[in-house]
Amino acid sequence: MADRDGVIWLDGQMVPWREAKTHVLTHTLHYGMGVFEGVRAYKTERGPAIFRLQDHTRRLFNSAKILGMTLPYTAEVLNDAQIASVRDNGLESAYLRPMCFLGSEGMGLRADNLLVHAMVAAWHWGSYLGDEGIEKGIRIRTSSFSRHHVNVTMCKAKANGNYMNSMMALQEATRCGYDEAMLLDTEGYVAEGSGENIFIVRDGVLFTPDLTSALDGITRRTVIELAHEEGLDVIEKRITRDEVYIADEAFFTGTAAEVTPIREVDDRPIGSGTRGPITERLQSRYFDVVQGRDSRHEGWLTFV
Ligand code: PMP
Repeated sequence: MADRDGVIWLDGQMVPWREAKTHVLTHTLHYGMGVFEGVRAYKTERGPAIFRLQDHTRRLFNSAKILGMTLPYTAEVLNDAQIASVRDNGLESAYLRPMCFLGSEGMGLRADNLLVHAMVAAWHWGSYLGDEGIEKGIRIRTSSFSRHHVNVTMCKAKANGNYMNSMMALQEATRCGYDEAMLLDTEGYVAEGSGENIFIVRDGVLFTPDLTSALDGITRRTVIELAHEEGLDVIEKRITRDEVYIADEAFFTGTAAEVTPIREVDDRPIGSGTRGPITERLQSRYFDVVQGRDSRHEGWLTFV
């Protein structure tokens, strides 16, 4: 990742990609207190457009507030930095990674004398779970790792350190031959994937876990709105793993994962064992929206 051409926005300036460096005593590197976002820009007929930029930036500020970090830039500056990162790298479509981290002025856990830095990188990143996954669906397994307890790490914060848990879950799943993990909360109810929210469909109704320990996903919110437009009911509630087993359809949502069908959970086929019709409908609505083919939702696009 580090050895490539292009520019990265770092603390107010565009710097050459290879020179966007930080010191080994950077506080966040040691203890994981930092906040970040994952954002996508899509190619549209009117050039690249960033999807729900303001909502992502708002979540970034909320994550920082939860951790007690004061960000040194306004939302406007960080939005402009993201637009510039796509534009200045000449990208038609992109994954964007804004991240705010603590500096290297001191090492104690008080962390009361540290500068807060911000960076934005943008690069091309295709389907997170593979093109075949988007079309045919993926195989997932219940993780032996639980999703964070709400009073251990802060689940509403998209915080750097929270992702150790996601990585262990995903690595366990892939080592066992699956594409993704399904994490249960500490009470045993379905929470989410390692980097995705989960939905199931049963008798034409969508169900998704409430947001107790799952991240308040922007794709989740988008899909709920699109489902309502399609005349579908969406129920947010506690879901058990066996409810997932007997669902007609299941899918993940996330900025990186977009809308990815789940065709198998713990070696049990979901529905017909392929992408279901409601999943396909919502997926196609989602791609129309993000790629600027749905005039009703142009308000979600920030053209670069
Ligand atoms: N859950 C987790 C743990 C995530 O990391 C993500 C990705 N940000 C999501 C859900 C989906 O959120 P979004 O749709 O905002 O990308």
